[in-house]
Amino acid sequence: MQRLSTTTLVLLGSAVWLGLAPIGRAQSALTITSDTLTADLPDTLTFALQADNAARITDVQLNYGVNARSCQEGAASQAPEFTPGTAIEASWTLDLRDTGSFPVGAELWWNWEVSDDAGAVTTTERRTQRLEDERFSWRTTTRGAVTVAWHQGDQAFGEALAAIAASSLTRITRDAGLELADPIRIYVYPDPAEIAQVILFQPEWVGGLAFPEHNIVMAAIAPGEDAWAREVLPHELMHLVSGALTFNCLGARMPTWLSEGLSRFAEDNVDPALAAQVREMALAGTLPHLSALANAFSAYGGEARVSYEQSLQVVAFLIETHGAEKMSALLDAIAAGTAIDAALTRVYGLTTYTLDSAWRESFGAPTREAAVATPLTVPTLALWTAVARSSSTPAPSDTPLPGVTETPAPVIESTPRPVESPTAAAPGGGLAPCGAGAAALVVVSGALRRRRVGA
Ligand SMILES: [Zn+2]
Repeated sequence: MQRLSTTTLVLLGSAVWLGLAPIGRAQSALTITSDTLTADLPDTLTFALQADNAARITDVQLNYGVNARSCQEGAASQAPEFTPGTAIEASWTLDLRDTGSFPVGAELWWNWEVSDDAGAVTTTERRTQRLEDERFSWRTTTRGAVTVAWHQGDQAFGEALAAIAASSLTRITRDAGLELADPIRIYVYPDPAEIAQVILFQPEWVGGLAFPEHNIVMAAIAPGEDAWAREVLPHELMHLVSGALTFNCLGARMPTWLSEGLSRFAEDNVDPALAAQVREMALAGTLPHLSALANAFSAYGGEARVSYEQSLQVVAFLIETHGAEKMSALLDAIAAGTAIDAALTRVYGLTTYTLDSAWRESFGAPTREAAVATPLTVPTLALWTAVARSSSTPAPSDTPLPGVTETPAPVIESTPRPVESPTAAAPGGGLAPCGAGAAALVVVSGALRRRRVGA
């Protein structure tokens, strides 16, 4: 028997499956001797089957998928190469460089259809495996809907992270009116480089990644970085919540100002100097119109910080003026496939244009003409955190998600995409614009310096 690596979920021993033979044909007994999924992160996942059968096995098909929100058909199928016979070994490797990475903690499932020359077709029992990062020995703690996994730091560190996450979700529900009932998993690494080693196309300094389709956050927080934890966890958790609540297959999505404004709102972290700067720019008529923040933020740190702060202030204005329930209704409308202006009109009686004016007027700033939205170029400065649109698309040949074509180009242009595949525009590995909040960006540069110097 082949040696199985430690990252293998093993269904060893023998299991016998009765074939579902067509009437009039003999049933066949298939004996599974090994049925495994082996991860070799970040590059590949390999499904492997060893089986014996009384009759000669002539055909094997693998069906697999991921348990995540997706607009795709649930399953992909592959025909692995194998040598027909009464004892077979079949395997098929999913190349994540084509499909994009799954987050650590993603749940994959698979089964096999085995046909023999007696006419029996046997479908093996569906297996499910969570993708774990087995380089480290993880501790976990669960508080409410949140499970935190960490591998460096003591129990108190993990408990503190879980407490931050739980209170953040409580605040997101109480203050912003948004609630996600699904279980959430947070994987905490002490060093961003460790995340980049298992998630493709990530810069080594990415501080937090939200995978809304999977309800998973991966974050780089070292023991002792409490202030950073209080920024990055609420920010990324809000991306999970807002991403889940607006999920739809109709092409409607949150504009960047709404997504990032909500995540900054969740941080509960004010930067008075930056807040004052944004208001002064608005009063002077130099602050961009909200419509310019629909798709991407500038990659220049200073401009991006202003955009995050402006987004935060507009979101806070909506919530404080109209109540948290309406924010929930706004996300519901987007989830129902309503484009942002129609959704704003339905819930608030506003459009992006009149919202921008109402917000400016609330502190005496002059209104502005809406800019003709021109795509922002540039992204040379990668932002600290990101929303990963991870692959929930096991089959690279599948059609991209509806709406994905409207997804702005990755902000992190310095992240190379080594594989030019037909799925380049598909969810795999792409990054939606994100970044830390303004305050987090400040922390970031500090953290980067510290990490470069210290470690
Ligand atoms: Zn963000």
